[in-house]
Amino acid sequence: MIRHNQKRYSVNSCIRYGEINFKKIMKMFNFLPWQIAEAENFLSNKNRLGHAWIIHGSHGIGKLNFAFTVAACLLCENSKNNFPCMACSSCNWLSDDNHPDLKLISPESIKINHTKISKIVNSTIEPKKNKTLSREIRINQIRELELWFNTTTYREGWRIIILFPSESLNEISGNALLKILEEPPKNTLFLIIAAAIDKLLPTVVSRCQKFKLSIPDQEVASKWLNKQGVEKSKEWLAAAGGAPIAALQSSTENKNTCPLWIISLLNILARDVQPKIDDLFKICDKNLSVHQMIDTLQKVCIDIVLIFVGNENVRYFPILQKPIEQVVYNTDFSSIINMSHWLLTQKKIATYPINMKFFFYVTIKKFGNIFLNNKY
Ligand SMILES: [Zn+2]
Repeated sequence: MIRHNQKRYSVNSCIRYGEINFKKIMKMFNFLPWQIAEAENFLSNKNRLGHAWIIHGSHGIGKLNFAFTVAACLLCENSKNNFPCMACSSCNWLSDDNHPDLKLISPESIKINHTKISKIVNSTIEPKKNKTLSREIRINQIRELELWFNTTTYREGWRIIILFPSESLNEISGNALLKILEEPPKNTLFLIIAAAIDKLLPTVVSRCQKFKLSIPDQEVASKWLNKQGVEKSKEWLAAAGGAPIAALQSSTENKNTCPLWIISLLNILARDVQPKIDDLFKICDKNLSVHQMIDTLQKVCIDIVLIFVGNENVRYFPILQKPIEQVVYNTDFSSIINMSHWLLTQKKIATYPINMKFFFYVTIKKFGNIFLNNKY
């Protein structure tokens, strides 16, 4: 039986060359409230665990936290109720920021920021400011593991590799990983974290067992957000598609649960009026990125489709319920779907530098036209 631990780890980790520098890891790991049943399930067979697992599920539900806490449980010598004892050598190494049998492999461009948001481990990630750092997990990061595998583990215990996020594997590093997975070293466990399992090499997927983490129950997630000091927790949660960590992150970075420009745009379109794009751009957050804008529009498209097919309520932005109920009369299903596909293709090129104002203008014009039928 897993209990919610009284003590908590706060992991302030930074990544050096794609691996966590454990010098900044502090205190204790802890399963998030909605992960307890899943953790119990995962660890129920801990003596017969397979050597490679893909931990997958939606963005922002705490997959990285889950993997770290599982690792802490497995490395602990006196784990009780599937929680680390915090007294053994292994737990002390974790507390002292340096466990020799645990590695995290990530792209150089990612640092894991646990400091801003919460004392609880979470998977908020920020790109490092140096743009020359790799966005991919490179082959040398995988090859370096081979050297590590030649060392013995502490008391012949587990050797654990957390790979995050799996989407950062390229074909070459993915194939290098595959070779290791085909002949796994003894007592070695890979925890591969994926938001999109279909982006992994199928050959890698076929070598792994899968463990899906679900979107948590709304009440549990909302209560947890309240404890973190988030007001309007249900609205933030809805805007994040039910993912609490993403909701928490969003609430710290944004003033409104729904961006003002999209509220204004939908209300204008609901009146069947051409929007003044310059005015909309002026009320945008100064830090609005192409990625955020696309993400917002994708959610709105889903909300429109939901109302289109007869759902009573929107999923992401309750504040847009009424204008969306209006605009669905001014468009057709295929136009919304085409817009969604277009947004998806734009997301793929959003990693390149794009003039935000130009992109905003083109995108709003295109989005508006599907409701205004090009009559302006
Ligand atoms: Zn311990």
